[in-house]
Amino acid sequence: MSFKELNLNPKLLRAVEASGFVKPTDIQRDAIPVVLAGRDLMASAQTGTGKTAAFVLPALQRLLSPSSARGKGPRVLVLTPTRELATQVNDNIRQFGRFCQFTAGNVIGGMAYPPQIKLLKQPLDLLVATPGRLMDHMEQGRVDFSRLEILVLDEADRMLDMGFINAVKQIAAATPASRQTLLFSATLEGKVPAIAKQLMKNPARIQLATNHERHASIRQHVHQVDNAAHKHRLLSHYLKDDALTQALIFTKTKRGADKLAKALSAKGHASAPLHGNMNQNQRKRTVEHMRRGRFRLLVATDVAARGLDIRSISHVINFDLPMVAEDYIHRIGRTGRAGATGTAISLVGPEDWPKLVGIERLTGQKLKREIVSGLEPTTPEPRAGYGRNGNGMKPKRRAGAKPRRNNGRRAASKGRRDDYRRSRDGGHRDGKVAANAQRGFQPWLG
Ligand code: AMP
Repeated sequence: MSFKELNLNPKLLRAVEASGFVKPTDIQRDAIPVVLAGRDLMASAQTGTGKTAAFVLPALQRLLSPSSARGKGPRVLVLTPTRELATQVNDNIRQFGRFCQFTAGNVIGGMAYPPQIKLLKQPLDLLVATPGRLMDHMEQGRVDFSRLEILVLDEADRMLDMGFINAVKQIAAATPASRQTLLFSATLEGKVPAIAKQLMKNPARIQLATNHERHASIRQHVHQVDNAAHKHRLLSHYLKDDALTQALIFTKTKRGADKLAKALSAKGHASAPLHGNMNQNQRKRTVEHMRRGRFRLLVATDVAARGLDIRSISHVINFDLPMVAEDYIHRIGRTGRAGATGTAISLVGPEDWPKLVGIERLTGQKLKREIVSGLEPTTPEPRAGYGRNGNGMKPKRRAGAKPRRNNGRRAASKGRRDDYRRSRDGGHRDGKVAANAQRGFQPWLG
């Protein structure tokens, strides 16, 4: 199928052609006709599948017809969980709207208020926002939704996981009931169906591939490692590989990202950290430098790397496994994008096996165990099913085995837990943190 067959306006087709896109991706092929027909839609599609254009193109097509309502507020609102994703959506709007006259802008956390206040005072066609900051503006009476036609919830599962459920509901309630609602999510399970039921009218449902099929373009394997020194040796081994053009290396803490980026720079690798303690401009600059090839390695935490779209990333390396299995899918989706192939390598330390079990359960596949000659692990792999729930439980000590020494690790692991809880899980566990996130008190959230 070609883009022409999707009945898009010639101005949009010109922009698609100028972007170098030859044919629609699966999600574009399936979603665009549904959106053009004016139907509500819930679709499972991750970043990397071309899902942004799947809603931006038909939304722009709708904007080419004048609004029947009075007012100057946005006709299309896109809600995203993070600033990075919001910026990316706005880039897509600019890219596909280049031959049309649209006004669009972002209202995102961590950025100055005055330009956003100015933006909201002007006539606006499209608004891309993170929920916390948008709520701030709404509470000050700065947002006019009277002519809103389309509401898009992008990465809805993430938004709900990050504690934005109430903000999303309140924002939706402030828009006209006649609106068209589009929901894109990595998964249509968990909390997503309930919110869809509440906010959507008889939505069409598009479910693309399973997690497993979706990552057919990514070669995935794991290494069993003995300790941190072993991780560093394996990382050095892969960094010598010419096939590694650019890599995104994940650590579980911001401190860990800083430390590893510094160590890699000291060894002569062009590296930089990317995490939530950096301000928006620093993060933007770092990503731009990576995109231009100034860095070969980006050492990042999950929150900072969400939505990252850099096609030349050939490798994702999980220096630390993610705390939450779903983040594994998001992480590896940073490589093998838009038809390219990629490699995802996970370094699994003695305490990480329950997490690996959780990941394998979620993806429905056993990841290949790989051994590098000379860098073999010194112990056999722990039994399957270890840590039963894949929930990070520590293994029971074997009878007769010596008790483990803590060596001050408790303090470090508390730091990690705090980092994790603050950054992504406040929503369910800590109402105060979630409320702060919604008010935009946390610089790394919307
Ligand atoms: P997304 O899933 O929206 O984050 O898009 C992932 C990447 O795929 C982006 O770099 C897009 O520019 C690219 N892309 C989107 N649609 C197409 C297409 N039809 N053909 C080739 N690349 C595309």
